[in-house]
Amino acid sequence: MYDVVIVGAGPAGMTAAIYALRNNKRVALVEKNVPGGVIVNTAFVENYPGFTKIEGPSLAYAMFEQTTKLGADYIGATVTGIEIGESFFTVKTDGESLRGKTVILASGTAQKKLGAPGEEKYTGRGVSWCAICDGSLYKGEDVAVVGGGNSAFEETIYLSNLANKVYLIHRREGFRAESSLVDRVRQLKNVKMVLNARIVEFFGAETLQGVVIENTLDGKTDRLAVKACFEYIGTLPSTDYAKDLGILADNGYILVDKNCETAIKGIFACGDVVDKDIRQIATAISDGAVAALNAIKYCSG
Ligand SMILES: Cc1cc2nc3c(=O)[nH]c(=O)nc-3n(C[C@H](O)[C@H](O)[C@H](O)COP(=O)(O)OP(=O)(O)OC[C@H]3O[C@@H](n4cnc5c(N)ncnc54)[C@H](O)[C@@H]3O)c2cc1C
Repeated sequence: MYDVVIVGAGPAGMTAAIYALRNNKRVALVEKNVPGGVIVNTAFVENYPGFTKIEGPSLAYAMFEQTTKLGADYIGATVTGIEIGESFFTVKTDGESLRGKTVILASGTAQKKLGAPGEEKYTGRGVSWCAICDGSLYKGEDVAVVGGGNSAFEETIYLSNLANKVYLIHRREGFRAESSLVDRVRQLKNVKMVLNARIVEFFGAETLQGVVIENTLDGKTDRLAVKACFEYIGTLPSTDYAKDLGILADNGYILVDKNCETAIKGIFACGDVVDKDIRQIATAISDGAVAALNAIKYCSG
């Protein structure tokens, strides 16, 4: 029996693990991919205190190393459901089931898809949601990035160092991204902003050869020849396993109180999976600490 079973080993889950382990709790961290969460797929992080600029995977690895040194049990599995018992919870996975006195949900989010024709066909053949994973396949080529938030701008900067030309496609003229990122992108010679535009089709042969864009103001269409298209248009909560627990908001994110506790006593949630406005590493780790300290209190209560 674990004291704490944590679903997801991103920054929120790993921070919760660090706090619980330092309190001598027995901790299982269940992760369906590699540990680190979204930051494993992030080129550079430039707003995490203590580091002016750090590669996402290096930051993820430092957190992972800290949790393993403290003695976390890493379980590589996908959580499929949670059963509420009299005195413990059973976390069901596609492998073994795990028992925990408390559970912390830190499963984060997944990237939204555009849903345009051809997207599915060219997924992995040009259409991607991870510039750091796939960007180097397109060295010297023309590529596109879709989105107007920080992620789209950060990954455009990363790709501008690899690609011949980067088209940044956004459906409006204004951006959600921080102005410092927008200014940096505006100065990049090989980035062309394609504004008031949306992708209505992906085309190609075996691999992607381009996208059809529609002007959102006059409806006119045009073709852009690109070998890759990286989508950063927002996220969806990873909460399928929790949909029958009665703890989700209408938008699918998890509702918590100020202690990061859900409506079920003993089940906590933290990080991007929580129903809130700001989703950053700093806010995820803050939630992780709050969830763990309250889970520890629950264990000894
Ligand atoms: C491209 C991009 C760039 C970004 N850049 C920055 C930045 O520069 N600075 C910054 O502060 N923030 C940045 N962010 C946001 C930041 O990455 C997130 O806020 C942060 O990673 C949230 O951490 P988390 O632990 O809550 O969730 P996540 O990082 O999403 O981790 C959740 C983990 O749970 C796992 N998981 C999900 N479902 C299950 C399941 N059923 N069973 C088991 N495991 C599961 C996932 O595989 C994942 O590893 C960026 C985001 C993106 C997309």
